[in-house]
Amino acid sequence: MIHYLFDIDGTLVRAGGAGARSLAAVMMTRYGVADACRGISAAGRTDPAIVHEIFEKALGRAPAEGESEAVIAAYLEELDRALGTSGSTLRVLPGAADTLHALAARPEVRLAVATGNVRGGARIKLHHAGLAPHFDLDRTGGYGCDSAVRAVLVARAVERAGAGPADTVVVVGDTVHDVNAARAVGAVCVGITTGSDPAEVLSAAGADVVIDELPALVPWHAARFAA
Ligand SMILES: [Mg+2]
Repeated sequence: MIHYLFDIDGTLVRAGGAGARSLAAVMMTRYGVADACRGISAAGRTDPAIVHEIFEKALGRAPAEGESEAVIAAYLEELDRALGTSGSTLRVLPGAADTLHALAARPEVRLAVATGNVRGGARIKLHHAGLAPHFDLDRTGGYGCDSAVRAVLVARAVERAGAGPADTVVVVGDTVHDVNAARAVGAVCVGITTGSDPAEVLSAAGADVVIDELPALVPWHAARFAA
């Protein structure tokens, strides 16, 4: 079996800053902090890690017990509202639906996500992008709510996929964080340049292959895993 683990932001969709705006709105409402996400790099990082950094920078302290979870819950409500409006900045990356469909049609392939989003955030983004039917988010995947550390949540996704020693895991992502996490769990890593990091950075980090658009995965899969 070939288990694909897809990153979401920069790989399947671009939220166009909706995540940062939603989080900033929550920090404004709850703590009176303006521009809470300014200067904070979210690419390839987990929601809990981003919230932790915002607390340190804006409030000069770590979140108290349960505080990060409460902020993230409010953020999800805000995000769902933002992505559900006609002014939504969410964009599905070219060929995403067709690529997932083509891979899923192959009997040896299983699809799941490995994302820094908490599970609720992954659900909201994929739902508004029309990509949710391709994944069983309840039973598979690795999420920012599993761990703030990407390698740990990717390992969780591998475990939930039920991947054994005879199987191959392929991580698809747009940042060095995806590549590092893939290497940490011994997965094949496909870097994609539709998000944050350029091809040379992904290659230097150790991506097995770098593609410029999702549809390139289909011929790559056929060539790499030809029977
Ligand atoms: Mg990403």
